[in-house]
Amino acid sequence: QAKAAGGGCVRVVDRATGPAHGETLRTVERLRAAVLAPGPQDHLEVHYQPTVDVESGVVSGVEALVRWRRDGELVPPEEFVPLAERHGLVADLGLVVLDRAVADVAALREAAGRDVVLAVNVSAPQLHDPRFLPAVRRAVAAATPNRLVLEVTETVLVAEDVLTAATLDAAVAAGAHLTVDDFGTGYATLAYLRRRPFSAFKVDRSYVRDLETDARTRALVEGLVLLAGSMGLGLVVEGVETAGQADLLRCMGAPTQQGFLHARPAPPGELAATIRDLHERLAPARQAAERAV
Ligand code: C2E
Ligand code: MG
Ligand code: MG
Ligand code: MG
Repeated sequence: QAKAAGGGCVRVVDRATGPAHGETLRTVERLRAAVLAPGPQDHLEVHYQPTVDVESGVVSGVEALVRWRRDGELVPPEEFVPLAERHGLVADLGLVVLDRAVADVAALREAAGRDVVLAVNVSAPQLHDPRFLPAVRRAVAAATPNRLVLEVTETVLVAEDVLTAATLDAAVAAGAHLTVDDFGTGYATLAYLRRRPFSAFKVDRSYVRDLETDARTRALVEGLVLLAGSMGLGLVVEGVETAGQADLLRCMGAPTQQGFLHARPAPPGELAATIRDLHERLAPARQAAERAV
């Protein structure tokens, strides 16, 4: 958001914190360079965190998670994605992530003979970018026979506008699947589940944290499992950190999980090995599932 400050000056105003000080401006410029003109010390990286089904013992997919390599250090997305959103960079960032992720998953298929569902996170401004849908169509074509999933948070959905709704519909028509990310942290979620063509929701990790200690949280998650089942939607639980949580969730009917217990996000070079290890660790579940049929 730029605002005329008189005398031909333009002052950059940060919506959340007021006038930006020098540090923020410099950070924005460095981020712009990392997105649009990447160099060896300053660029975007995409890491991948697997999703597993602890009931059938399979690795079901991977989620692309962006990082900013700045001066060789890895900056987490929470520190720069909001900045990119406010300064008109997130559409470009999203395109970089989508194209990179498609290429990395294709490489995984070539090198390791593994095919996984690819999930990418989508910010609100991307849904207004004319390059978004063509990129989604390319990604869907490249991801075939597997799926491309777009993870959209409730905040995107709450700020409903006609263009956002039309883009989401068009993405689904193009073959992408939609997931509500961080489910349960925003509001108006249930209304959106009624209208938008979502195929799954991802229960926020704040619900998992209290699962073993709080009966109300447990009851809520049980309710969500029932809701997903009766609506024919998939349910993924994020932030699973302990074996106790994983087991409890499995018993509650929520076997599709993501979290540090199963696997941490890995750079592309370590993804094949990460999935191989995970697959091995899931062998007992796989054998039990085979015995059960
Ligand atoms: P998210 O989409 O909900 O992704 C899950 C976040 O939780 C990731 O953090 C992941 O590393 C972390 N996580 C996974 N398992 C666990 C666990 O067991 N315990 C804990 N404490 N954390 C866990 P990360 O990679 O820092 O990403 C944070 C958020 O940044 C993402 O939340 C997403 O909203 C956003 N983001 C990441 N990549 C992108 C992107 O390419 N584009 C956009 N627009 N947003 C992105
Ligand atoms: Mg996500
Ligand atoms: Mg999430
Ligand atoms: Mg989150």
